[in-house]
Amino acid sequence: MREKSSNTIIFKRLSLLYSEMERAYDLTANQLGLSCQSCPDNCCTSYFLHHTYIEWAYLWEGIRSCNDERQQGFLRRATDYVNEAKALPAEEVKVQIMCPLNENGFCRLYEYRLMICRMHGVPNSFVRPDGKKLSFPGCFRCQELYSESATAPVLDRTDFYRNLANLEMEFLGEKARNLPRVRLTLAEMLTQGPPEI
Ligand code: SF4
Ligand code: SF4
Repeated sequence: MREKSSNTIIFKRLSLLYSEMERAYDLTANQLGLSCQSCPDNCCTSYFLHHTYIEWAYLWEGIRSCNDERQQGFLRRATDYVNEAKALPAEEVKVQIMCPLNENGFCRLYEYRLMICRMHGVPNSFVRPDGKKLSFPGCFRCQELYSESATAPVLDRTDFYRNLANLEMEFLGEKARNLPRVRLTLAEMLTQGPPEI
């Protein structure tokens, strides 16, 4: 089990990285004139998968910062989410179910939300370690906004991914080699409890 004090420092660094993502997102969204205000969609029903132990552990910091009643509510909804997703045929697993942290349309652990929640919406791209570049057009509202202009600003996620991967390696240390890969929905991160590292 890791020392709590070393977790505190690395979580602070993750939080700073999250803030940088948020700033980059806001800059791109402002350039586009994109806002989630009054949007008919709610992206918290998107089928997001998460891939790092450090984000999983930090999410649990957020859960533990809530009172018991709220924690129970999150966990109850997470269990419902997992059961509902399991009951769907494999080809329908991407059917949209509301994230267990969302209440009345709002994220109740906004400060602790994971990387993909901070990057989703604006056009973005990243270059994989093998050099292949992947590009995403942004959400439907964003695409409507830039369909009339020849170019749209694009948020480059590459450095954010790299920095998150570096933090993950530091967080796991030598254990990184023996731990299974993470590929979980946020609901699964809740129902499985904090990661055992
Ligand atoms: S990211 Fe786009 S689709 Fe999602 S809520 Fe915001 S404006 Fe709507
Ligand atoms: S963590 Fe928050 S922002 Fe991300 S999907 Fe859940 S409710 Fe939405």
